[in-house]
Amino acid sequence: MKYIFGPVFSRRLGISLGVDLVPYKVCSMDCLYCEVGRTSEKTLKRAEYVPFEAVKSELEDYLSFKPELDYITFSGYGEPTLYSRLGELIGWLKNNYSYSLALLTNSSLLYDDRVLEEIKTLDVVLPSLDAGCEETFRKLNRPVDGLTLKKVVEGIKKLMSVTSGEVWLETVFVKGVNDSEEEIERIGKLVHEISPHRWQLNTVVRPPAYNVQGLSYEELERIKEKVKYPKTEIVARSKTDRRKLPVKEIEKEIVALLSRRPCPASEIADALNLLQEEVDSIVSKLVREGKIIEINFGGEPYLKAVSDG
Ligand code: SF4
Repeated sequence: MKYIFGPVFSRRLGISLGVDLVPYKVCSMDCLYCEVGRTSEKTLKRAEYVPFEAVKSELEDYLSFKPELDYITFSGYGEPTLYSRLGELIGWLKNNYSYSLALLTNSSLLYDDRVLEEIKTLDVVLPSLDAGCEETFRKLNRPVDGLTLKKVVEGIKKLMSVTSGEVWLETVFVKGVNDSEEEIERIGKLVHEISPHRWQLNTVVRPPAYNVQGLSYEELERIKEKVKYPKTEIVARSKTDRRKLPVKEIEKEIVALLSRRPCPASEIADALNLLQEEVDSIVSKLVREGKIIEINFGGEPYLKAVSDG
């Protein structure tokens, strides 16, 4: 499959089938923390970067198996709203399937009414907002010429006023770049003004495009306390932070994952950002306690929650 990937498990969207609508690496920004890599074509030009019919036919093939998914998600290598036929694709999926649809976006084109018209029926849009002032925006997100934080914020506010779905705003915090007290205050003020359905705090947990570092879980907790936005979630945890979590918490997350769908142990480690040894030891304990069982699927050992029926 060239344009769709997964399904993958993500903390934010559960089981999600990704649709990749722009090639490596077309984006309107070149964020310091990008896990995809450095942007080679920085643009705000919308185009049919990948052939519409080919994307549709891959989706048709894959969805004919009626997979269990929480979302089909437009995401991938760069900024998906740069795809000029995004609206058509959303319309086609809505008319032919009943899957929930999600969009990950850097918010750069949300000020454009045509883009908003195309995406306003999505079940959830996950826009990014990483800066509280133009200087930090330029330093951290390295946008294409002419794109300002003002436009980004206006766009997110417009999205809030027209969408029929939810808006989960994400902020990625980077050490020494957008984590000063003043910057957190400015970002917090914007978050309260925008008033998203959820505010999701993230940080650098995978190798970034440029040499930057993330914040610890405790530092993200402090930001959450300071901003006091009621619907705030911390969605990032590094492996080191994870190991400090109580085993009971990890057990609960593993059982929740396995009650959504059976997985091999290696997938649990990836999905929940845990160490393999940690998963192996907790899985043995849960099997002994009768909370999960091992099953064989296609010659491979899978794990399944007992409450799953
Ligand atoms: S907007 Fe997203 S894809 Fe583009 S550079 Fe930033 S993190 Fe990477």
